[in-house]
Amino acid sequence: MTQRRPLIAANWKMNGSCELVQGMSAALSQITTTNEILICPPVIFLSSFPKSDAYQLGAQNVSNELQGAFTGEISADMLRDAGARYVIVGHSERRALYGDNDAMVLAKALRAVAANLTPIICFGETLAERQQEKTFEVIAQHLDAVYAAHPELLATSVIAYEPIWAIGTGETATPEQAQAVHEFIRQHVMKFNVVAAQQIRIIYGGSVNAENCTALFAKPDIDGALVGGASLKTAEFSAICLTAQD
Ligand code: PEP
Repeated sequence: MTQRRPLIAANWKMNGSCELVQGMSAALSQITTTNEILICPPVIFLSSFPKSDAYQLGAQNVSNELQGAFTGEISADMLRDAGARYVIVGHSERRALYGDNDAMVLAKALRAVAANLTPIICFGETLAERQQEKTFEVIAQHLDAVYAAHPELLATSVIAYEPIWAIGTGETATPEQAQAVHEFIRQHVMKFNVVAAQQIRIIYGGSVNAENCTALFAKPDIDGALVGGASLKTAEFSAICLTAQD
């Protein structure tokens, strides 16, 4: 059986403060776990985090361009220089609010990899799509848009399954619902590269908290979590990081 190191990633979104940076870094430095811990704060805080072996840093978005006249954008190289090792790409809020379509998501993921960042590529269905039993169809389309075009990304990215109806709503997919989609994703990407499909980490996001994470992490294809709201609470996020033992 393939060993995949669990990844517990915090997406602070447009939240956080210098106090939270200090509190979170102090709390995570006390933790002993074999899991990989990642904090994706607003980029302005990247350089405020003390260097530590306890956690990695990431960004929540990256420009699809290399450099130049793109006001307000931040390049992958800049993120890397600022200490990021990962970047979230294609979060549903970016797709819904800022027009990040599949082509843009792919372009951003490629920029990330070229700068030696690991993209965490997010996929998920809406509530209407789930109710119409289109979940697998929708996920397959989004996966193909990235991995059929660039199967080499399977070896250099992380997949986040984030059902849109579960993000920030308090409503989590049941462990069985999440496992079914994670298993589908792994099977689906096997057509591009069997070995990489077994090795890629597929993490779950959608109202993960210290109470529901144990059952989620017990599922064989759930390799960690992308945590929004609960990642803003030092004690709760620390507890999630400790729960996700492999
Ligand atoms: C997210 O935004 O990636 C997320 C999973 O948020 P929450 O945990 O708050 O649902």
